[in-house]
Amino acid sequence: MDFATTAEDEAFRSELTTWLDENLDGFLAQWPGVEDALSTGAGAAGVMKFMERRRAWQRKLNEGRWAAIHWPKEWGGREASITQNVIYSEVMSSYRTPGIYNPNGLWQIGPMIIHWGTDTQKKMWIPNILNADDHWCQGFTEPEAGSDLANLRTLAARDGDDYVFNGRKIWISTAHIAKWGLFLVRTDPTAIERGAKHEGITAFIVDLEVPGIEIQPIKDIAGEETFCEIVFDDARVPAAYRLGEEGQGWRVAMGTLGKERIGTAGLAIGMRADLNAMINLARSVNPQALEDPAIRDRIARVHTDIEYTKLLNYRALSKILKNQQNWPEVPLAKLQWSDLAQTLAELAVDLLGPVGMMAKGAPEAADGGSWNRLYLYQRYTSIGAGTTEVQKNIIADKAIKLPRK
Ligand SMILES: Cc1cc2nc3c(=O)[nH]c(=O)nc-3n(C[C@H](O)[C@H](O)[C@H](O)COP(=O)(O)OP(=O)(O)OC[C@H]3O[C@@H](n4cnc5c(N)ncnc54)[C@H](O)[C@@H]3O)c2cc1C
Repeated sequence: MDFATTAEDEAFRSELTTWLDENLDGFLAQWPGVEDALSTGAGAAGVMKFMERRRAWQRKLNEGRWAAIHWPKEWGGREASITQNVIYSEVMSSYRTPGIYNPNGLWQIGPMIIHWGTDTQKKMWIPNILNADDHWCQGFTEPEAGSDLANLRTLAARDGDDYVFNGRKIWISTAHIAKWGLFLVRTDPTAIERGAKHEGITAFIVDLEVPGIEIQPIKDIAGEETFCEIVFDDARVPAAYRLGEEGQGWRVAMGTLGKERIGTAGLAIGMRADLNAMINLARSVNPQALEDPAIRDRIARVHTDIEYTKLLNYRALSKILKNQQNWPEVPLAKLQWSDLAQTLAELAVDLLGPVGMMAKGAPEAADGGSWNRLYLYQRYTSIGAGTTEVQKNIIADKAIKLPRK
């Protein structure tokens, strides 16, 4: 990747910073309060706690055409280049802007509807996602289909103008606040028996408010309800909501997960802000830790790793946006990011001492318990978006080409 920015890139940066200078303070004055002390790790919890503020911020971004810069211009984007996507992440992180209401919709589902949807579907859903009218979730995982996603079994049987859904999804983030979701289901149950499980999978946009859908929130490790189990019991989904043809679901899913990796590319940039924030806070709450040579060594390592992760993410991002084969950089970047996210969270609690370990509700808890929550919640980084073991398998197989036994 060429890191040199062009005059056009610098004009993009300047337009964005000017827009933020003109709009961010006014927005924050209308919506006072700190969203989260941290740049990373708010995830689904951030969406739920600050829903209305996030909705308003996404709408504000959309007014300036800053909500979905990677989308085509005709659908409200800017067709931003790879470098501009990186500039965007850096600038938004340095201004510590609020989160958006529809990260799944903007990063994953919207681009898939633009790619696979009919004109009617695009007109129905794209403005909704962009303008944060409704919240969207992504329903792929099932009790027997996580890492082995193609093993999914939620059945969609055609019945006239509808499909009838029966089955169970699990760990679906923010489903309980979502109106819509992109779901993968099985339209050909014989495919598994035929040993062709990647076939017979179909993607649908599902209205989660129709009868026959029960959504049960599950408490996460930090005690918050951020993801859900969803049971379909004869739920009717219009055939007009099918995304792509029957049996094309695997291709739709792979595109979606590729976009998910783009979403994680900006996270390394947020980690730098978090490292700086924890060092600043330690100066007041636990200054002796900063004199400890072992801690100083860990800070230096994390600092270096963040830079390395950022560069690796840029390379991965560059490949995805150029539609090149996405290894080995993409699985490597995911692996490195998830490991670093956990290392950073562990460093935070050691650096901040007892107040860093205190959870929300404790009067002395640092930043309202955000660091404690980060420490617990970051365990998800080695599970979500492809587990560490599975990423290692991919690297061993595709990048190092280790022999199979
Ligand atoms: C916070 C969070 C949010 C999530 N949000 C969503 C969401 O919004 N939508 C959605 O669809 N899903 C979501 N998920 C689900 C996530 O995608 C799955 O948890 C993930 O794919 C792993 O699947 P699993 O939990 O079934 O674990 P399994 O696949 O059962 O894995 C269990 C263990 O076995 C290991 N393992 C599995 N296969 C292999 C192998 N071949 N070789 C070596 N080791 C292996 C895994 O690494 C893991 O350690 C979320 C998960 C979390 C934690």
